[in-house]
Amino acid sequence: MKTLHCATLLVAGLFAAMPLRAADTELNVYSARHYQTDQRFYDDFSKQTGIKVNLIEGADNALMERLASEGANSPADVLILVDAARLWKAEEAGLFQPVQSPVLAERIPANLRSIDEGQGSNWFGVSRRARMIVYNPAKIDGNKVRNYADLADPALKGLVCTRSGTHPYMLSLIGAMIEHLGPEKAEQWAAGVVANFARSPRGGDTDQIKATATGECGVALTNSYYLARLMRSSKDVDREIAGKVRAVWPDQGGNGTHMNITGIGVLRHAPHREAAVRFIEYLTGEEAQRLLADGNNEWPAVASVKIDNPALTTLGEFKPDPLEIGRIGKAQLEAARIVDRVGWR
Ligand code: FE
Repeated sequence: MKTLHCATLLVAGLFAAMPLRAADTELNVYSARHYQTDQRFYDDFSKQTGIKVNLIEGADNALMERLASEGANSPADVLILVDAARLWKAEEAGLFQPVQSPVLAERIPANLRSIDEGQGSNWFGVSRRARMIVYNPAKIDGNKVRNYADLADPALKGLVCTRSGTHPYMLSLIGAMIEHLGPEKAEQWAAGVVANFARSPRGGDTDQIKATATGECGVALTNSYYLARLMRSSKDVDREIAGKVRAVWPDQGGNGTHMNITGIGVLRHAPHREAAVRFIEYLTGEEAQRLLADGNNEWPAVASVKIDNPALTTLGEFKPDPLEIGRIGKAQLEAARIVDRVGWR
């Protein structure tokens, strides 16, 4: 009886010293994703677990600076970022801690998690987006723009539009090219695209779609959800713009279309680690996956979850590039040097 009592005390003492806090009742989320629909999965998580979510939304750079200045005193538990380029930056800055979770290992494909060096992953992809080609059929023969490589073909001189090469979406695409083709060929491609510009890079992806619709550009690159957003817009003018361009899933005969993610990681100094892991696991569930994907016209990260999104149905099935998102992240520095050398600003 006495032994049992001591053992109980010992176990209680161990739990008190462990970083796991089963009684976490709060979760502090820093998110660079700012879609109104995201509130639904925060609310749903709170309802299911009783854990209160405190949300701070901001631009990726502002959140990362804030985390750096808060250091070990940061109240933040998880950071949500979009695009491999930004996730890699946060990882390199040492903001995350690795997480090993059988649920996440089973639900999230290995290519959508940060590279696991034996201690778990620093971040996990929770939804997927694709980088596609749009063209104006009055200006371009669609057969001439089937692949990313085509955008560097001198036949398209004066017709190509993109946002700045320094933007994470472009850095990630160039990063993927570096991984597939090697840095020399990736740089040749980037130089070829710059030589084909219809105008100096300006604006975001939606601006490229609009300029393609008006004919200022013949062909452009955009993340899939920007086109889907125009297609599903309640405004006639948006749907008209979408109707004037044609969309292409690039590289279907090769590596597949370049993919990226919305990702989330547990922060190094997370005060509520248990709740943080539980939240990420929650995000891989059916309902959360649907809310995450459909809210921004993206695809679920969990392969078994299907969404019914009319714009994505119209855009059709395609072969995604299975390249590890972590490798795309690691190629950022080389991609940035290429962008600099070819003057893609
Ligand atoms: Fe975006």
